Amino acid sequence: MAKKSITSELMYRLLVQSVKDYAIYLLAEDGTVLNWNAGAQRAKGYKAEEIVGKNYECFYSKKDREQGVPRRNLELARRYGHFATEGWRYRQDGTAFWASVALDAIHDEDGDFIGFAKVTRDLTDQRSSEQRFRFQALHDGLTGLPNRVGLGEHFEIQFPQITYGSRIALHYVDLDRFKPVNDMFGHLVGDEVLCEVARRLETVAGLHGVAGRLGGDEFAILQFNSPSQSDIAAMANDIVAAMNRPIEIGAHTANIGASVGVAIAPQDGDEIPALYRSADQALYRAKSEGRNCVRFYDMSMNEVALARSLLELKLRHAASTCDFQLAYQPLVDGRSQEILGYEALLRWVDQTGVSVSPAEFVPVAEKLGLMPQIGEWVLRTACRDAAAWAPHLTIAVNLSATQLRGEGLADLVGSILASTGLAAHRLELEITETAILEDLESASGTLRSVRDLGVGIALDDFGTGFSSLALVRALPLTRIKIDRSFVADLDGEDGCAAVVQSVIALCRGYNLTAVAEGIETERQREVLLASDCLIHQGFLYGRPGPVEIEDFQRTA
Ligand code: C2E
Ligand code: CA
Ligand code: CA
Repeated sequence: MAKKSITSELMYRLLVQSVKDYAIYLLAEDGTVLNWNAGAQRAKGYKAEEIVGKNYECFYSKKDREQGVPRRNLELARRYGHFATEGWRYRQDGTAFWASVALDAIHDEDGDFIGFAKVTRDLTDQRSSEQRFRFQALHDGLTGLPNRVGLGEHFEIQFPQITYGSRIALHYVDLDRFKPVNDMFGHLVGDEVLCEVARRLETVAGLHGVAGRLGGDEFAILQFNSPSQSDIAAMANDIVAAMNRPIEIGAHTANIGASVGVAIAPQDGDEIPALYRSADQALYRAKSEGRNCVRFYDMSMNEVALARSLLELKLRHAASTCDFQLAYQPLVDGRSQEILGYEALLRWVDQTGVSVSPAEFVPVAEKLGLMPQIGEWVLRTACRDAAAWAPHLTIAVNLSATQLRGEGLADLVGSILASTGLAAHRLELEITETAILEDLESASGTLRSVRDLGVGIALDDFGTGFSSLALVRALPLTRIKIDRSFVADLDGEDGCAAVVQSVIALCRGYNLTAVAEGIETERQREVLLASDCLIHQGFLYGRPGPVEIEDFQRTA
């Protein structure tokens, strides 16, 4: 028995050692080189005694090392059992070669993980520079997945099957919360998150499909082998589930989530651009119906897309002529019902006389880059109107994400206050958590300069987003507005009063004023007053509309 094992061990050793075309060696868990064969010496130039005991990172470029690529590749091989790629590696003398690399996690008889087997092949001669260039042109440099063009090639290869009645599904994946993670934890962590997303999508795609990265935080899977409707739904749901699992990068945990739009060839498009268009429309639906879900393309989406383009066209026109109105909704002292000020709410009546809700058109204007311009009009108009009101009345103006991102917000606010003659303490800007998180650092800097002018800052819709304490602490806030969804729940018997109460307690702790919005019933008013939330807004007190002069003559 013992003799046999020595023989087979010897056989393996001879086999590995004598192979000259492949570098075959073992790595410890941390990437330390454990042994070395003739192929490895030939490919990389190091003798066994020069490299055994060193970390395999030295085969990578400086840039790859700085970006943590060697470590990441080990992690991926460990997690998924196998990892393969192509790319530039470096010899001892510093010269580069084009390598095909495979890493396998290895386990002992008890199943315990002990390290990695690595096989590298020098393909510099086999692959012409044209082919290497081609590989790079078809793959995403960060994740190693096929890019848009690469996916297109996979589609073309499978396409002939369609004429025999086969189907191909395109799952268009958009990450729901990548940007805030990237901004909060930094780009290096962001890159690692994208790589982890890529690996998870590869796992979901498995043997029946191919995952690719379309750019930014957009990915896709092409599903082959003529999947049935339920196969397709199963894969789409697997994608959402895989993206819902938290991603741990070092000390950080990222909760990303994803929305998926699905289109199927040939019925929803028989070439790749048409298929992308259909999947994109389905994705748009998934995102507008709450994200973190799957939607399949259907014909009605074409009409929706058409209506959207029409809306965009009309909105561009309205923005160029500032063809909007402001409605003012009172903020009142809940006890005395005295009006304390107003919130300016944007109104747009399009040329056909249809009134479009800001909840619908503000995101579109934002996407079209029209919001800085429209927002400036809102700010100027609201301040000018308020300057004509009784001097104790305040004016609250909603800010959009792009206004926060722009450089000159504080200058703009300062110059509008000066030109309208409105006292700074009468103005309050309302911001949402999602708008801030798009770029926390620059937003909090911008807000600080605005606050320094004496202008108030309210955190709007509190409780619906991240509701992070860190955010409340980091921003120069004066108020928190409790979202109306919590106020609406105050009618019931359940625990939503607890949410409201904890926000009120938070405000007390940080010396902020709690404002409740969306108050519609007497009961909501009473519960809020009993909880010491005194500033109220809602249909119970007044709907958005024009400000009547007697409104404040009555209260002045
Ligand atoms: P918001 O800032 O949370 O504004 C409050 C919304 O709640 C308004 O909807 C208002 O009409 C509505 N509302 C007020 N009281 C009640 C109530 O008692 N019950 C119910 N059910 N609703 C109530 P509106 O005017 O449709 O605005 C929707 C959103 O559009 C706003 O939410 C805000 O996020 C955005 N928006 C409005 N004007 C502007 C603006 O000038 N700039 C920006 N960036 N966003 C704006
Ligand atoms: Ca608001
Ligand atoms: Ca609000």
